[in-house]
Amino acid sequence: LPVLPLESHSDPRDVLRHVFGYDSFRGRQAEIVDHVVAGGDALVLMPTGGGKSLCYQVPALVRPGTGIVISPLIALMHDQVQALRQLGVRAAALNSTLQPAEARQVERQLAMGELDLLYVAPERLLTDSFLTLLQGARIALFAIDEAHCVSQWGHDFRPEYRQLTLLHERFPSVPRIALTATADGPTRREIVERLGLENGRVFLSSFDRPNIRYRIAPKANPKAQLRAFLDDHEGEAGVIYCMSRAKVEQTAQALVDEGRFALPYHAGLDAETRARHQDRFLKEEGVIMVATIAFGMGIDKPDVRFVVHLDLPKSIEAYYQETGRAGRDGLPSEALLLYGVEDVAKLIQFVEASDAPDARKRVERQKLDALLGLCETASCRRQVLLSYFEETLDEPCGNCDTCLEPVKTFDGTEAVQKLLSCVYRTEQRFGAGHVIDVLLGVANERAQRLGHDKLSTFGIGTDLSRDEWRAVVRQVVALGLLKVDVEGHGGLSLSDDCRPVLRGERRVQLKAEKRTKPARATGGAR
Ligand code: ADP
Ligand code: ZN
Repeated sequence: LPVLPLESHSDPRDVLRHVFGYDSFRGRQAEIVDHVVAGGDALVLMPTGGGKSLCYQVPALVRPGTGIVISPLIALMHDQVQALRQLGVRAAALNSTLQPAEARQVERQLAMGELDLLYVAPERLLTDSFLTLLQGARIALFAIDEAHCVSQWGHDFRPEYRQLTLLHERFPSVPRIALTATADGPTRREIVERLGLENGRVFLSSFDRPNIRYRIAPKANPKAQLRAFLDDHEGEAGVIYCMSRAKVEQTAQALVDEGRFALPYHAGLDAETRARHQDRFLKEEGVIMVATIAFGMGIDKPDVRFVVHLDLPKSIEAYYQETGRAGRDGLPSEALLLYGVEDVAKLIQFVEASDAPDARKRVERQKLDALLGLCETASCRRQVLLSYFEETLDEPCGNCDTCLEPVKTFDGTEAVQKLLSCVYRTEQRFGAGHVIDVLLGVANERAQRLGHDKLSTFGIGTDLSRDEWRAVVRQVVALGLLKVDVEGHGGLSLSDDCRPVLRGERRVQLKAEKRTKPARATGGAR
């Protein structure tokens, strides 16, 4: 396709209509476009599929000069450039996949003012030669896509993004628009600070994805739970996330053995296999991708019907982002998360073992606590999820497990006291498994060797089953009454908050365990 200059337009609505072929802007697009066209800086928070691209593409065409788009995803860059060229927009990309001669050609076009939009990888942008080139070019705007990558507290930190700070130092008169589909309060504030957006406007769209039904269940029998869920999603495309490569392989194999169409995806597979699996997921129907989080960013498949987490995601943001890959077409979709107290211990261990500064660890711990709160809540999941993004949903959503099958609560003070006492008597060193053995009076070799069969708390918990005790432990951890140890054995210890409970001054409401099989997914959002 010949790449010729477009007829120049000065009105964003003309560009929208004549170049992109759309009748009207959506949601906050019009406001954002007008603001950036006028030279303002902006931080745009919009869920995936919300239409972020037009927010910088239209202003780039209206304003004189080239719009520079910084994007971490080379594959996505390529698709965007192709799509824009189809529309007659003079677009190009600069990244490590180009031959030197091709790269020089693109740079020449930039210098000559022959490009409307140029997509660059951050490491490329930051080279001295490219910055010098930019200094001599006419720039319409900088768009920083996936702006949460700037945050070291976000889930997808990229060191190169950090250095984008120099954009506002070197090019103070060029408007900057940062865009992301995921950013909680601290991440937002960090983006603003790093990219010098203090004088810009923040455009916050609702993060609600009403067509996604959220389900979060304790891991009881994960294989059976997964099987029941997949039986409700016969023939549909979905993603199953696991924490480790080994578990991805095992799970994919188990599903194939059950006669399902499943493929593995993780960073340990060679590039060719990964590309082939991704391609089949995109092009064939009903493929179940079993993957680590290496899979998904930038994958644009509208009809992903479900996302399962067999292990806890790293944070609520990561959960939101990963589940958000379901149902981009707006049709009913379902997200299932299975979690256990061991997962939490494992994540805490990751955080503690890292050599991050204490302040960072504290934030990571807070994020984990928030995630655990979402898992253990007896109220609407969507309300809890959205409140994490500083958004309020006035009514319970009616499309999550706690709304659909309201959780019964009971006064669990006595059970909690028994548990806390037992943790205390066993000297605050053991994980949930052993403590529950003692509560249930299991006189195994370990209990005998440690003399735990002689404790006053031995066998005081036979009124509850093992699963019920596990549920009590999870909730007590989520309430902050028990801490899970940092050395990685999942040892439980008492927190200061547990004193009023032990003294009987504070009563604790617990959720009653659900014993029913999850109800069939029957579509229909609120
Ligand atoms: P995001 O980057 O926020 O995930 P995109 O920019 O890729 O979203 O847009 C998602 C889809 O919505 C695209 O197919 C895009 O063409 C479409 N879209 C965006 N804005 C409009 C609009 N104003 N009118 C019609 N379709 C739109
Ligand atoms: Zn709900």
